This record gives sequence, structure tokens and C-alpha cells, in this order.
Amino acid sequence: MNDRVYNFSAGPSMLADEVIVKLRDDMLSYEGTGMSVMEMSHRSKVYLAIFEDCKARLKRLLGIGEDYEVLFMHGGATGQFSAVPLNLMKTGKADYIITGNFSKKAAEEAAKFGNVSIAYDSSENNHSRIPSSDELKLSADADYVHLCSNNTIFGTEWKTFPDTGSIPLVADMSSDILSRPVNVSDFGLIYAGAQKNMGIAGMAVVIIRKDLAVKDSSRMPVLYNYAVEIKNDSMYNTPSSYSIYVLDEVLKWIESIGGLEEMEKRNRAKAALLYDYLDSQNYYLPHAQKDSRSLMNVTFTTPDKDTDSEFAARAAERGLVNLKGHRLVGGIRASIYNAMPIEGVRKLVDFMDEFAGEKR
Ligand SMILES: *Cc1c(COP(=O)(O)O)cnc(C)c1O
Repeated sequence: MNDRVYNFSAGPSMLADEVIVKLRDDMLSYEGTGMSVMEMSHRSKVYLAIFEDCKARLKRLLGIGEDYEVLFMHGGATGQFSAVPLNLMKTGKADYIITGNFSKKAAEEAAKFGNVSIAYDSSENNHSRIPSSDELKLSADADYVHLCSNNTIFGTEWKTFPDTGSIPLVADMSSDILSRPVNVSDFGLIYAGAQKNMGIAGMAVVIIRKDLAVKDSSRMPVLYNYAVEIKNDSMYNTPSSYSIYVLDEVLKWIESIGGLEEMEKRNRAKAALLYDYLDSQNYYLPHAQKDSRSLMNVTFTTPDKDTDSEFAARAAERGLVNLKGHRLVGGIRASIYNAMPIEGVRKLVDFMDEFAGEKR
């Protein structure tokens, strides 16, 4: 594993070494079957054991109650931008809170299917902060309220979630699910693309309160129909079988280190290293406002664009890769998801200090 780099990519992103090693060891013959998990029927006994284990583990780790269903769906998180309004807009109205690029895209997609009311939009502060509850313009009669818990591109994150009363709260948790404990019962639906904290790209995990999956389905694409997915236990068609197996291995790893409380502790320690350094100097400019800072995506800029590029290139020579900011915003973004070890963050801070010292 000595030639592995510290990969700060926003997604697809790092997997823990322990997980990668297990995938490698299982590759040619999974538990004596003579085949890899990729080659197995999704209806086989061996595969179904993996599938059930994955669901049970996720329920245990997140404390998901009996009134919720876990679904493995196709099309990543973006597929859910469509699935959520298709299924949940029962009267055709929803509130969307825009705190970044992905929540904006979700709102734009939902507007194809009904009446979208923007409860808050942080565009005017370049998505550098999360609103307080009293800044939200929530409707009394919305079918649901949608937010994105962690703003992957700009680097802000909700610390506590708004109380929407009897109106279901829907959250895109693609980039911070499993990074900390959450109270699932506060949400009507949670979804996440798997490639940040849950494994590999292409799959979305959906946690849905069962009573919400009842909308008339005559014109709904069958693969985005929650009721059909619930009825068929995510196997109306072939699920992303290998992605589910990878998720199971990721969940085993999280349990082995002590679960989500320990995960959060580690994530806080990693983020503190970076933010404390950023606050101690004046060469780099952090993007997110202090009370809204993400534990997963740390965004900052050097004095100009060329220096941003030089920073990312020089860091890569040290094995600190994928630090360039998103093409929409530029700057530097260090994505420090669950799988990033604290050593990687320490090395990054050391490099930042050295680089700034040279430039000053
Ligand atoms: C990455 C990401 C998405 C998009 O995920 P895809 O799987 O590419 O569709 C959506 N929302 C958030 C918050 C993300 O971080």
C-alpha cells in the first residue's frame, strides 16, 4: 500500500485501505465460491446474504426505525433529484432551500414536476453560509421541504436541521452521510449518492418513511417509483450488486472503528487541523463562514488563480492529489471524507505552511 496517495477528491473519493484490501482479497473467489461478487446472480443465496447484511448494518449504524425502508437505487444522487418530486409531490408543491450547486440543481429538476418555492437562497453570499431557521420562508402547505446537508462544492454544512413540523423534511446527504450520527426520524426521506462516504459511484441509497411512498404511479418511470422498489426489495431489476457489497464492507469498517460517534470524533479532529491552521494565518482565505464550515469539504483560495493551480500541482508531487476546487468556483478544496486518515490532513497542513512561507 506504500504507493497509495492521499486522495482529496470530492467524489468518487478515497476508500479506507482496509476496505480496498478486502475487495482485492475477495476478487477472484468470494468465500470459496470460485467467483467475484461482480459475477454472481443477485438472486443467489451467497449474494442475498451480502445484501441483507448490508441493509441490517446500515439500519443498525444509523438507528433506522421499523417505519423506514432502505432502498438501493440507480442513477446516483441526481436520479433522486427527479425521484423525490415524482413520488413526494402529492399536491404539487414543495419548498427547496438552496445552499449550493446541488440543492439548486435539485430545485430546478423539481420545478419540472410542480410548484417549487425557494425558502432560502445563499447565492448572494456565494453559498458561504447556512441559514438559521428564522431566515427560511417555509410554506404552510408544502408537500415536503428539501435541503442538502453538506454543500460539497462550496464547503458548508448544516449543524442542526430545521424543524418542519408535520411537513416531511427531505435531505440530500450525499457528501456527509455516515460522517456523524443523525436522527433519521427527523426526516421523511434521506438520499445519498454512494461515491463519497458509502463506496463507489452509480448507486443512490434512499432511506424513506414508508407511508410517503404512495403516489399514483401511472406515468412514473418504474425505476424511480419508491413503492415499486419497496415492494421488490430494491430488486425490480438487477441492483448495483457490487456497489452494495462495497457499501457493506465500508459499513463493516465503520463498525470496526467504533461506529458513527467515533467517526464524527475523527472527522472533527481532521477538520480542526485544517481550520485552526487557516485561522492562524493570512495567506490563504477560507471560503465558508465559521459557523457553517463543513467537516467534509474544506474550501479556501490562495491570492490568485495561477497560484491555486501551482498549489494543487505542487501538492500532487507530494502525493496529496485532487486538491483543485470545483470548476464552478476555483480555489482549493480538500475533501476529507471518512476514509481520509488524519496523517493525510497533517501532511496537507505542513505543505500549506511551507508553500505559504515560500510565497510570502
Ligand atoms: C456528488 C453529489 C451529488 C451528485 O451525485 P451523482 O451521484 O453524481 O448524481 C448530489 N448531491 C450532492 C450533495 C453531492 O455531493
